[in-house]
Formats: sequence, structure tokens, C-alpha cells
Amino acid sequence: MIKFILNRVPRGMLQRMAGWAMPLVGLFYAGRGVQCPLCGGRFRKFMSYGYVEVRRNALCPRCLSLERHRLLWLWLEREGKLAEMATGSTKFLHIAPEVCLSKKFAALLPPDNYITADLESPLAKVKMDVQVIPFADSTFDVVFCNHVLEHVDDDRRAMRELHRVIRPGGWGVMLSPVDEARATTFEDDTITDPSERTRLFGQYDHRRVYGMDYARRLQETGWKVEEIDYLATLTPVEHKKYALRHEILYIVKKDRHAER
Ligand SMILES: [Zn+2]
Repeated sequence: MIKFILNRVPRGMLQRMAGWAMPLVGLFYAGRGVQCPLCGGRFRKFMSYGYVEVRRNALCPRCLSLERHRLLWLWLEREGKLAEMATGSTKFLHIAPEVCLSKKFAALLPPDNYITADLESPLAKVKMDVQVIPFADSTFDVVFCNHVLEHVDDDRRAMRELHRVIRPGGWGVMLSPVDEARATTFEDDTITDPSERTRLFGQYDHRRVYGMDYARRLQETGWKVEEIDYLATLTPVEHKKYALRHEILYIVKKDRHAER
């Protein structure tokens, strides 16, 4: 019964329930089979999660991290990115902040240096459209914009805007769902019906499905892009312990010598 409910409750609602209901859910998942590197929680397994296809062992019952958040977190931690942020005066722009990551960054950075932004989410400090960012050039050192660009009308415009507000030498994380079986991105602006979008793009509000040219698209808007198969660097024991799955980490950089 609990499983039935959990598999059908939207993640937004779970986020609102996180304060009071999730500790109870955590009890149901009590055990030591898996561990979440973000909240440190240990569970029998993670919760099932997914819009179209339900993935087992995906969602942390405590902080709501998914496989990609855990993979990214391990990279940030082990590559010294968190330590780097904690020591300096890093100005961080977090678009469509994921609750599990946002809590960690808010604890790491002074409030004035950590700006969350979203079109709608009440969890974000700044309400804005990523295609028209209300900040001056070179304002930030770091930007995170994960699982956003596939929803945006003009994703290239958003990529250029993100590049503009980052200082030369700054960096960011721009994960998007990429279909590695496709060489090129598939988009068709005439498709507006939600069920057609789900069928063709994988979710009712997606505008496109990126192919292996995703990195090139970012490069064309000015970014340097590093594609990291981080999962491949971890051990099978770690894959299982943290319940990870393959997703390329797209780490972007703004050229040190770029014009301001
Ligand atoms: Zn967690």
C-alpha cells in the first residue's frame, strides 16, 4: 500500500511533505543496503521513482536525491569542488534548485553568495526566465542548471545568457537528459500536445530530446565542455552502495580570456 502511494505521488508533493512525512517513510525503508552521500542516510533500498518508466531503487526517502544527484555529489566532493567553494567567496547561481543539493549549498555558502532562481518554484529566491537573466555580465563564479534546458523554448538563448553572467574562468554544471542512441537532438516546435510530447520527448513538458550533439550545442554558445563518464571511474561496490546509474556529467567552463 505504501509502495503504491509512493510510486504515484509527484515529486513536488514529496518535497512539500519532506518536513513531516518523510521521516515516517524512512522508517519503512529502514536498513543498511544503500547509502545516500548527500544526507548520509542508510536505507534498505531507495524509493521507486519515475514519470513514464518507474525506476526501482532511485529516490532517497530522506533528502529526495536521485541517482544523478548522488553521482554529481560524489564528483563535487572527490574532485575538491566543495572544498573550493567553502574556502573562497564563490558567487553561485543555482537555476531550478534541486532541494537535496540546495540544502547542502545553503549550508556551505553565505546567503548573499548563493542565489537560487526559478520561473515558478517558491523555493527559489529570484523569479526569472533563464532566457532573460536579470544579472549583470560576469556576476557569478559558478552556475548549476540541471534538467532545465530540455524544457526551455529557446535553449541556445538560455545557454548564452548563462555564459554571459559567469565570469571568465568560472564554471558550471549543465546536466540534461541525453539519449545516447541519437546522434542529433530531436525537436519539433509544432508538437505541443502533452501526451505527444511524452511519447516523443519523454515527458509532457519537454520541448526536445537531446542527442550526442548536446555538448556541441553548448560549445556553439561559447562554453568549453567536459563530458565526464564519472560512473565508469567508480567501483561496482560503490555503484550498488549509492544506487547510481550511467549519466554523463556535462561540466562547462567559461574561457579565462573571454571578453567580459
Ligand atoms: Zn539523501
